[in-house]
Amino acid sequence: MLHDAGQFLALLNPGMALLLALCFVLAWHHERARPYLLQVGACYLLYAVAFGVQAVWPPRQGGGPATVTGALYLGSAVLLSRGMLARIGVRPDRCAAMVLPLALFGALAWFDLVQPSLFARIYILNIGVALILLAGVARLGRLRTGRNVDRVLFWVFVVFALQFLPRTLLTLAPAVVQDAAVLPRTAYWLWLQATLALLLLALALALLAATAQDVIDRLRHERDTDPLTQLHTRRSLEALAVHQVPPRPGEQLSVLLCDLDFFKFINDNYGHSAGDAVLTQVGRIIAAGIRRRDIAARLGGEEFVVLLPDTPHDAALQLAERLRQTLEQASIDVLPGMHNVTASFGVATLRPGEDLEALLMRADNALYAAKNNGRNCVEWEREAGLAVQ
Ligand code: GH3
Ligand code: MG
Ligand code: MG
Repeated sequence: MLHDAGQFLALLNPGMALLLALCFVLAWHHERARPYLLQVGACYLLYAVAFGVQAVWPPRQGGGPATVTGALYLGSAVLLSRGMLARIGVRPDRCAAMVLPLALFGALAWFDLVQPSLFARIYILNIGVALILLAGVARLGRLRTGRNVDRVLFWVFVVFALQFLPRTLLTLAPAVVQDAAVLPRTAYWLWLQATLALLLLALALALLAATAQDVIDRLRHERDTDPLTQLHTRRSLEALAVHQVPPRPGEQLSVLLCDLDFFKFINDNYGHSAGDAVLTQVGRIIAAGIRRRDIAARLGGEEFVVLLPDTPHDAALQLAERLRQTLEQASIDVLPGMHNVTASFGVATLRPGEDLEALLMRADNALYAAKNNGRNCVEWEREAGLAVQ
């Protein structure tokens, strides 16, 4: 019975690892910008090969295959650790990635070829793999405070790394130490295969789920970010405005609209790409001139909007004037002979019961007035009874 279960697990383990390796390679095929998927795929492949080799040549006291499988397992652990770190853009520790695995490999080869000892090799390999993985845990620390998928991935990885330590204690069964041939029939061997299969599956699923979340987040970011200015898109602004309209009790929501002056002239005289570069610079200037909780978006063309939560009308006017001056004084280096651009501003503050569309309409009217007033100025509604205090 124990033997049958052992044989089943011995097949299940490399078979499952091969399938998971294939999943990671396919995922990488779709997401070439994420080479860590290939590293983790290679980790699972090495693991499958090592397990396969062990199934054909069960661990004996010495003679060579253990040196090969040891190298494959160590390489697999290094690739896993590197892959996990590469996903979050962290470089691996040199000692954990190079020196430690080489030293462990040397020790494994010694206890296989020179002074054969299965007992020593089991300890070196399991504790060694745990050390290689645990060295990466400190650098993965920021996953602990990340999204849910990151936290799950972190803890699955920690459990995976730690379980290599208690598992070695099972080798204390005297029968194994005396006779290596009985190893495949021991509880240790079954435990080793069953837990590895389960944890490798859990780790792969957690990593693939985190990658799927990364891709979704990137697509959301692309959908909500204007590529030229890195500000929000109109769609994103409208989605975020839902949380601002109506404002909290006692707070006022203001908005400023900004349209570059004579932008067609810039396009016509310097070319469309110079016009694009100007838009990029203006986007940076606006982003640098507002608070964190303000929401800046490019509405299209050369028109920008900034939603200003908890900002009374006077403060919004001051901000618009400050932005206008900053823009006027900024040197725009892509336009030879013309070193600055100006913009006109329209400011409005939300009235009770009003929605975003109506607010933007009033700001647009004010902007129109600013254009008519000669441009490069800030305007707002001045009619008696309409101005917000
Ligand atoms: P005004 O001072 O009255 O605002 O004049 P203007 O020339 O800035 O305004 P107008 O609406 O006449 O021209 C806007 C120009 O912006 C026309 C259009 O070709 C250009 N434009 C719109 N979108 C883009 C873009 O993404 N990149 C570039 N380079 N130009 C754009
Ligand atoms: Mg314009
Ligand atoms: Mg315009």
